[in-house]
Amino acid sequence: MRKPIIAGNWKMYKTPKESLAFLESFLPLVKGHDRDEIILFPTMTSLAAVLEVVAGTNVRAGAQNMHWLNEGAYTGETSPTMLTAIGCRQVLLGHSEQRMYFNETFERVNLKLKAAISHGMDAMVCVGELLAEREAMQTEEVLRTQVRAALHNITASEAQRLVIAYEPIWAIGTGATATPEMAAEAHEMIRKELAHCCGSQTAQETRILYGGSVKPENINTLMAQEQIDGVLVGGASLVPESFARIVRYE
Ligand code: PEP
Repeated sequence: MRKPIIAGNWKMYKTPKESLAFLESFLPLVKGHDRDEIILFPTMTSLAAVLEVVAGTNVRAGAQNMHWLNEGAYTGETSPTMLTAIGCRQVLLGHSEQRMYFNETFERVNLKLKAAISHGMDAMVCVGELLAEREAMQTEEVLRTQVRAALHNITASEAQRLVIAYEPIWAIGTGATATPEMAAEAHEMIRKELAHCCGSQTAQETRILYGGSVKPENINTLMAQEQIDGVLVGGASLVPESFARIVRYE
């Protein structure tokens, strides 16, 4: 059984004070909810405070990115040892905004994934195609290349710490959502690649989330798809009531 994950990516929103105000409203709304795992990815300046408040609750928190080395002359970066030192055991990697605006590559995502695993962290790796690639019928090829590069030399046992988020770039923050059928089809493609990289058991066990304009209005139909093991939510995760409604999908 793949336990669903409902994750919120706060991108570059919320000061520490705003993050704590969110939790004050949100935690009571999801108290005792055990059907799904709930993960929040706040900004780096809010992360320590968020981790402290969610400790002992059914909500976990992680970083939106990290470097793969433990330390060094890399201005502006945060290392896995720095994250684990504050109790962070989750990291989001390869988000399309990192790829589009900061030249993140899947080769670097692979280094970061290996670093996360070796530090005992769980990693959520984002993959997804551009609209032009979908229109050119290249979705499968793009997903294959991304998954293979991200998982290069990752063993089946290491992949137990992996979650994939399928986020078609044309659906992120645009209001356009992939139809549940489109998402399910892409998830099938990713699962096939997981089997190629790490074997069929890993492919069956790895959770694949959908992300891209998920809202309370479309969560039920997305989660009704057998291939969709949860969602990664951007905009709609910023408001406690709306994110709690997503967590409580039917
Ligand atoms: C995201 O940031 O990963 C995302 C899916 O954003 P949104 O839900 O706003 O499209």
